[in-house]
Amino acid sequence: MKINIYNTLTKKKEEFKPINEGRVCLYSCGPTVYYFAHIGNLRAYLFMDNLRRVLKYNGYELKHVMNITDVGHLVSDADEGEDKMMKAARLEQKDPFAIADFYKDAFLKDMGKLNIDMPEIIARATEHIKCMEDYVKQIIANGYTYETEDTIYFDTSKLEKYGLLSNKDVREDDVEARIDEDPNKKHHTDFALWIKAPENHLMKWDTFWGKCYPGWHLECSAMGHKYLGEEFDIHTGGVDHIPVHHENEIAQGKGFCGKMPAHYWMHVEFLQVNGGKMSKSLGNLYTLDDLKEKGYEPYVYRMFNFSSHYRKKINFTFEAMDSAKTALARLREGYLKHKDGNENIDDKIISEYKQKFLEAINDDLNMPVAMSVVWDVVKNPTKSKKLADLILKFDEVLGFDLKNYKQEEVTLPEEVKLLIETRNIARANKDWAESDRIRDELINMGYTVKDSKEGTVVVKN
Ligand code: AMP
Ligand code: ZN
Repeated sequence: MKINIYNTLTKKKEEFKPINEGRVCLYSCGPTVYYFAHIGNLRAYLFMDNLRRVLKYNGYELKHVMNITDVGHLVSDADEGEDKMMKAARLEQKDPFAIADFYKDAFLKDMGKLNIDMPEIIARATEHIKCMEDYVKQIIANGYTYETEDTIYFDTSKLEKYGLLSNKDVREDDVEARIDEDPNKKHHTDFALWIKAPENHLMKWDTFWGKCYPGWHLECSAMGHKYLGEEFDIHTGGVDHIPVHHENEIAQGKGFCGKMPAHYWMHVEFLQVNGGKMSKSLGNLYTLDDLKEKGYEPYVYRMFNFSSHYRKKINFTFEAMDSAKTALARLREGYLKHKDGNENIDDKIISEYKQKFLEAINDDLNMPVAMSVVWDVVKNPTKSKKLADLILKFDEVLGFDLKNYKQEEVTLPEEVKLLIETRNIARANKDWAESDRIRDELINMGYTVKDSKEGTVVVKN
């Protein structure tokens, strides 16, 4: 079945056609490892995971590269301010390489906790300096650069057009130079490729232009080219990458070999908090560990993300997280219900569910619609192993690792026992509203509630 994906380059949903049949080459912009990833960043990687899983579900083999930025990303994406790594090193009074190691490991652990299907190649910028040097030399040889005293700039006026993703030639914009902008730059949109390191700069390498470090945009072009070639299928990132970072990657690709590096550009929208920006200063920036402390396991955050399409902003609230927690418990409960069942179900019904699920995920990863199919399966009153197997099949895309899910047998705390007793009384009195309310309360406390002819069983998730 064909897959349609929204391409930022053409501003349209398009049928996905890979360069090589049966195989997809993709590149995702990875994290800058100067601090813990916040849940907004993690939305970007859950989207990446979702794309990988949908492609695999459709039978594609993947070659996927994600970079780890550990040098050159300045505080502003528009190449201004201090290098993020250097700033963190100054604040934490540590070596920037040690900072990068620490936060890279923390990031990979977070990926593991969320069960993110990892790219085949994870490439660190500082391990590819030579590769970037070769790439930049080629751009210079092709005549797309100019030098100032301390920087080799990409000359965007040499391109036929700059701003292909934003769909306007931003060079023509009547923009005044920003305060921090280098006055020696010829055009507002020119950007740094190779920079001479000042004496006290900790991250620098001996290169063809003396002791230098690379501009941030270069690593993705150079590593993308090294592992995936001049042209590959899909490039992903957050929407914030559209106006500068990805425009510059395209510029570099054109300067290097005259080609557009990726055929499809996919961008995930931002996670917001209470309708606004998530930031440390507002005290609303959360990590996975913060969520855990508040009683939400990482899979709850995975479930939360399925409530919205990846191209829509999603608003983070604890009420929404509570609903996701309940949804996760219901999914697990539903899977176990069908797994224990031995009723028969018509294969035609299974095929219909499968078809609807596939249509949803292949419609530009429409997870809210795909989840509605999952809920139909979960709620199906026929308790059948075939439905449990179907949920497991869907879980290849959902990523909740249901196959290995086991309920822990633990002694129930007194308050839980009391709630069960109160609920049993409500049920005996046919007070279904009260019974449902207590059931939700138990689910929110992390318990699965199973009612059967033999009575009610409550287990810890
Ligand atoms: P960085 O580590 O700053 O390079 O960002 C890593 C990734 O997280 C990038 O793809 C960003 O686009 C993405 N990102 C940053 N903030 C958010 C957010 N609030 N919601 C979704 N993605 C984000
Ligand atoms: Zn990138």
